[in-house]
Formats: sequence, C-alpha cells, structure tokens
Amino acid sequence: MRLSRFFLPILKENPKEAEIVSHRLMLRAGMMRQEAAGIYAWLPLGFRVLKKIEQIVREEQDRAGALELLMPTLQLADLWRESGRYDAYGPEMLRILDRHKRELLYGPTNEEMITEIFRSYVKSYKNLPLNLYHIQWKFRDEQRPRFGVMRGREFLMKDAYSFDLDEAGARRSYNKMFVAYLRTFARMGLKAIPMRAETGPIGGDLSHEFIVLAETGESGVFCDKDVLDLPIPPDDVDYDGDLNPIIKQWTSLYAATEDVHDAARFESEVPAEKRVNTRGIEVGQIFYFGTKYSDSMKALVAGPDGVDVPIHGGSYGVGVSRLVGAIIEACHDDAGIKWPEAVAPFRAAILNLKQGDAAVDGACEKLYRELTAKGVDVLYDDTDQRAGAKFAAADLIGIPWQILVGPKGLADGKVEVKRRSDGSRENMSPADVVAKLAG
Ligand code: ATP
Ligand code: MG
Repeated sequence: MRLSRFFLPILKENPKEAEIVSHRLMLRAGMMRQEAAGIYAWLPLGFRVLKKIEQIVREEQDRAGALELLMPTLQLADLWRESGRYDAYGPEMLRILDRHKRELLYGPTNEEMITEIFRSYVKSYKNLPLNLYHIQWKFRDEQRPRFGVMRGREFLMKDAYSFDLDEAGARRSYNKMFVAYLRTFARMGLKAIPMRAETGPIGGDLSHEFIVLAETGESGVFCDKDVLDLPIPPDDVDYDGDLNPIIKQWTSLYAATEDVHDAARFESEVPAEKRVNTRGIEVGQIFYFGTKYSDSMKALVAGPDGVDVPIHGGSYGVGVSRLVGAIIEACHDDAGIKWPEAVAPFRAAILNLKQGDAAVDGACEKLYRELTAKGVDVLYDDTDQRAGAKFAAADLIGIPWQILVGPKGLADGKVEVKRRSDGSRENMSPADVVAKLAG
C-alpha cells in the first residue's frame, strides 16, 4: 500500500475526549471515528487490525472444533420472552418496532436464538456435542460508554454456544474453550489470565473471565504472580484428549475478579510476596449454565435410553473490538502503538527519507515491489513529508518493522531496519531486508 493513496487521517493534537491511552492513540492514528456515543466507524487502518484479531479468534475456535455460522443482529422479542430475559435485560437492550409494529431488538447476545436454531434440528444425543459460534456486532445500551472501543454500545463479539447431553460433557466443552482462549490471546501477544468470575445475567454456576492486566482496566483483580508465567498450550494440543491437566494447572493458582474474591483464601493460599492486586481488562468470558435455556425454551434431545432430556449448555464470548484497545493498552510507548506482529495492520513500512531523489525513489520502489511480491504486507511512505514527520507517523501507527531508505546509507548499498518493539536498528542491504521479512 502506498501511503499517498491510503486513507490515514492522523491527528496532530491529542483529542481531549480520550481519557485513556488506547482511545487517544486510536483516534490519533486514524483508526476509527466516533459516530455517536459508543458507536464507531472503523477506518482502513483500524479495520485491518480488527480483521486480524477476528481471524485469530476464528482459527482457534475452528481448531477447538467449534463451527462458524452467522446469526442476524436483529432478533424477535418473542424469543426473549420465552427465556424470560426480555424484561429482565432492562434498559441495556435496544428495542425496535418494525412497520408492522412487531417488536424486535438488536441482539446483546444470542443464547435464545442459538437455542431456537438448535431445538429446530437436533433431536438426538447422537448429534452431540455441538459448538456453534459467530462473530457478529452486538448492541448494549451501556449507561456509560467510554474509553473508545473498550466500552462501546455497538461492538464486535465472538460468541460460541455449546450443547451437550450432560454436565460431564458440558465441562469437556467448557475446557476446550478455556484452552482455545489461552491460545487465542497469547497469539495476539497478550497475557490474558483466566480468573474465577461471577456469572451475571447469562446465569449458571461456573465462569471464568480472561483478563489482561492494565491499570486502566475496569475490573479489580487478585491473583498469584506465578499464574502470569504458566505455559500456553501448543498448537497441536489434542482437543479430543484429556484437557484436565491444563485446566488444573491454570485453575489451581489463585486468580479471581473482585466480585468473587475471597480475601481469607487469598491470604492463606498465596504468600505475601506473590500477591498481585491490580486492575484488568476483560477480553473474554466463558460460562457453563447447565439447563437454564434448555429448560425454559424446551431444547430437549433423546438420550441413549430414548428419554428426552434438556441439554447442558455453555456460552463463550470474546470482545473482538475491545481487544484492539486492550492490545494497545498493553503495547505502546510515548511515541505510539507497538503492534505485536500477529495483529499489525502492516508488517513493515518503507520510509523514503528523500522523496524525489532518483536513487532513493528507485530503491524504495524496488523494495516495495519485491516485498509485495513475496506477500509481505507493506506500507510505503511515498509522501513528500519531511523525514521527521515520517518517523513520527510510523512510530505512532506502530508498524513492527520500519525500513529507512536515505541517500547516505544507499551510497554504501545499505538501508536501516528499525524494529518498533524495542527500537533496535540494523543496517543491511535491500536484498537482505527482503529475505529477512519474507522469511
Ligand atoms: P463488561 O463486564 O465489561 O460489561 P460483560 O461481562 O457484560 O462485559 P460478556 O457478556 O461477558 O460481557 O461479553 C463477552 C465479551 O464481550 C466481554 O468479555 C468483553 O470483552 C466484550 N464486551 C462486553 N461488553 C462490551 C462493550 N460494551 N464494549 C466492548 N466490548 C464489550
Ligand atoms: Mg463478561
């Protein structure tokens, strides 16, 4: 992508409305724009990151055996009357009337709809277990939308729903999602800690929130320091095998949100020097809720003995759009964003430090062509800005590798490669840069 043809409305000034760094940087880097309170348009740079995050979430759901589908954003109110949540949900639900005066709502979550789909087709335990997910926009009319995409009213969520014959099966499904979440967040360069959590309006008795530690987070959390260094399950983890050892390792160390925190237990289980009490950002939550929805909505399957029983369910959410902000909270410095490579909008940026100089222009064009041909996502800053402004923009938008091309270096056949994450620099030939980044 040539920057001269890209749409990157960088702001020079710090926007006053932004209270936290991720919100400020997303606005300054031209990633998104507020259209109404808690409702955002994703501009090209931000949209690229959102798609990368979404794709990692998708790959790890698929790996764990969940099946993707797509449900609509609008739902019938009657469906929610069946579960009893239409009234219970309160003012956070956006209610809509169509031209026939039929009551609709913009979905804040999809337990009811997926249960309705499930019960229409699945009648036998032989079709279980089943886990269906989608990645779709949600609407919750939050009392206090704030911090940009971190607490929006319209936001993108991955939500998966598992169906099992009994509690033992449902716990296996829960464990699969637990492991998939460990892998998902780690692939994005995040440390997200599973913490025991309250079940809230979803209902049920078993739940973990996945929390990224950050001072700006909205949740108070308590954990054992050692939980921060536990190993992430590998990509060949056997989801059909016994996941209990992994779950046990992650759940035997103390980690809880303030809602379920037990101070006495914390102090007896965790030595004083290992007690972490800080704040965090909830990037995902998983629930086992038993037969809550299958009882009220009559989602029954015939068991092996031919008797109909309500299925045991779980639901599993990831805040896809919130993650964009959460990753920035975890990965930035005074100059701007430092994207982990897996979610970066571009892998590399070429900075032409002397636009109009034939040798420099030629070298940049050649690098751009070769990197692009090798499938490297590269942003070529071919604008006529001065070098200082190009450095600042590249740092602000956080591209992991910056290739600095200027007349001095080129005279020796070299360009400079700067790594955004640690600021390290290295001189090398353009051919070596291509080999390094395409490798
Ligand atoms: P919170 O406690 O932050 O309000 P929640 O517990 O109500 O979130 P869930 O129902 O667990 O949310 O939704 C699954 C995920 O969706 C959350 O873990 C979070 O990452 C994301 N999410 C929830 N509400 C919002 C929001 N208003 N804006 C952006 N992401 C959100
Ligand atoms: Mg939650």
